[in-house]
Amino acid sequence: MNLMTTRDIDALVLKNEEYREKDAIVTVLTSQEILRIRARGVQSLQSKNRVICQPYSWVHITIDEKANRFPLLLYGTTKRFYFHILEDLEIQTTCQVLNDLVHLGPIHTSFMNLVNTCWQAFNTHTNGYTYACLCLKEIIHYQGIDPCVDHCVKCERTDHIEALSIKQGGFLCSYCNPSHVGKKSKADLIQIHSLFHVQPTAYASFCELYTLTLSDFIQWASWIGYHLNLKLPSLRFLTSISDEIGIYY
Ligand SMILES: [Zn+2]
Repeated sequence: MNLMTTRDIDALVLKNEEYREKDAIVTVLTSQEILRIRARGVQSLQSKNRVICQPYSWVHITIDEKANRFPLLLYGTTKRFYFHILEDLEIQTTCQVLNDLVHLGPIHTSFMNLVNTCWQAFNTHTNGYTYACLCLKEIIHYQGIDPCVDHCVKCERTDHIEALSIKQGGFLCSYCNPSHVGKKSKADLIQIHSLFHVQPTAYASFCELYTLTLSDFIQWASWIGYHLNLKLPSLRFLTSISDEIGIYY
């Protein structure tokens, strides 16, 4: 017997892939899970569900779930569509990298809200990269691959800190970094230290205090890629379109 269950969910649309002739498989992030949902007929311009399947939309949808098949999208409404993300290649690619990493994060309400706030920030060009780096920091923390930012990762001294090494796993002092590669300004080192110490309740004030950049985002995405041994084509593309940025491993 096939029992049908319908469910209302609040979700962020991460991805929309064509499926068979007229359908799509829509990947969404909710406060509890990442779901892949089949949306029937949405490749047709006449489909009323077409707009709610757009990536970078925050939607409220009703789905129908049955065992052994994709949940089916029934209907829904768009709460927000952050369409400005799609107008800037760097921002769009940054959000693509984030979408590719989201499944590695802590899937709960506050993480979903953080990703939502990040999209909103990019959409209005207000500190999007800082929120994006906070999302990556949540993923890094959840995966247990935090950088050592309280002292030199090699000798443990707390003074003469001058660089961050992805391969070594954290801060390096000038004695442990004799060739002085990847040197950072004091302000950058303080910002990194704060990023990994700020509590979620203080994220808004962190974003008022600091403005992180594309280069910071690439650094932390590279950190995740290196320590989890991931190949991320979207990150490679992002790095290639911002080729002035050299990442120190
Ligand atoms: Zn050292």
